[in-house]
Amino acid sequence: MPVLVMKFGGTSVATLDRIRRAAKRVGVEVAKGYDVIVIVSAMSGKTNELVGWVNETSPMYDAREYDAVVSSGENVTAGLMALTLQEMDVPARSWQGWQVPVKTTSAHSSARIEEIPSDNIMAKFKQGMRVAVVAGFQGVSPEGRITTLGRGGSDTTAVAFAAAFNAERCDIYTDVDGVYTTDPRVSAKARKLDKIAFEEMLELASLGAKVLQTRSVELAMRYKVKLRVLSSFEEQSDTAGTLVCDEEEIMESNVVAGVAFNRDEAKMTLVSVADRPGIAATIFTALSEAGVNVDMIVQNIAEEGRTDMTWSCPNDQVKRAEKAMEQAKQSGVINFDEMIADMDVAKVSIVGIGMRSHTGVAAKMFQVLSNEGINIKVITTSEIKISVLIDRKYMELAVQALHDAFELEKAA
Ligand code: ADP
Ligand code: ASP
Ligand code: MG
Repeated sequence: MPVLVMKFGGTSVATLDRIRRAAKRVGVEVAKGYDVIVIVSAMSGKTNELVGWVNETSPMYDAREYDAVVSSGENVTAGLMALTLQEMDVPARSWQGWQVPVKTTSAHSSARIEEIPSDNIMAKFKQGMRVAVVAGFQGVSPEGRITTLGRGGSDTTAVAFAAAFNAERCDIYTDVDGVYTTDPRVSAKARKLDKIAFEEMLELASLGAKVLQTRSVELAMRYKVKLRVLSSFEEQSDTAGTLVCDEEEIMESNVVAGVAFNRDEAKMTLVSVADRPGIAATIFTALSEAGVNVDMIVQNIAEEGRTDMTWSCPNDQVKRAEKAMEQAKQSGVINFDEMIADMDVAKVSIVGIGMRSHTGVAAKMFQVLSNEGINIKVITTSEIKISVLIDRKYMELAVQALHDAFELEKAA
């Protein structure tokens, strides 16, 4: 029988009632003749609570125990979903990551899936089981320890299962009815897209649109998984939601497909560093060794052999970055007058494959922000995206102004 993967996010399994509603959706697909793999998230808010408990217990926690704790929310919903299906007379059982096993790297809290053997679950399907409910977000390391895949990781579990089982489709059920031109919570004018290209979805996700975890889009693109995002709160047809697909499958699209934003960025500057060959290599090697994920970088024009170096990184890595730079200064490998961290910034980005063939998009973006009196602190571009770092208090305004200026509320 054909296999279908259905993933239910935190809000879709937040209460027993919602689990029942989700189970009914699963029942519909089983009745159509699919063997279904259901991937569940923890109840909404649960993972945050677990992360909070870990931090309170041990600020410099052992990452293996962090994973043991924060993965547990999914165990509860997987069991409850299997029980609910059984109550509906659908043959189902639950699986924790290690039982499948979902084999991952040992990078605790951000592990990557390396392999999902399909034989265990397939054998059960052959014996008449119709639904395998799998706890999302978790796996097992080569050392036999529980791992997690990074926040939002259940999306990646779902796509990885779809690839491993050659599923007909991977449906991601969430609290919005598809992928929008921007987060509908920030702009009332956001428009649902029927289709979006993998490349665009990949950029939007990595630039902050948390509707899909970035890694899940990467995997879907690589393994050609038919990926759909849809609402668990509405009756669904076979064409509901948003299909994430190859760009060739999209006939018409706007130059800018969407606007993404990320509130969790910080801007750091080293004031007056010696401008000599190798200085950037020294700074960014030290940051990378300290586990800081640097995003945007600018180096100012040098004056009298000194320059300022600015970068952005996630807010919660600022302390680590400061420590690494202070250490590098003390050991004499770099020298600077001052280090400044600005935590009140946000990154706003526009994304669209149409940018490859259209000029003037950047100029227009900067003009729109200037018309609103918004100062740009850092800019980065790639072939299909332009990102700016601005004061966080202007983030919503910037998103809405860009959405208006590029007429995203209208389909091409
Ligand atoms: P789940 O718990 O189902 O995984 P998430 O909260 O992780 O759900 O992701 C869904 C949320 O993503 C939506 O509620 C919405 O606020 C947010 N979001 C951000 N950008 C977008 C976008 N471009 N389109 C749709 N939703 C978006
Ligand atoms: N429960 C995990 C989280 O909140 C994984 C997920 O929901 O995708 O990040
Ligand atoms: Mg999510």
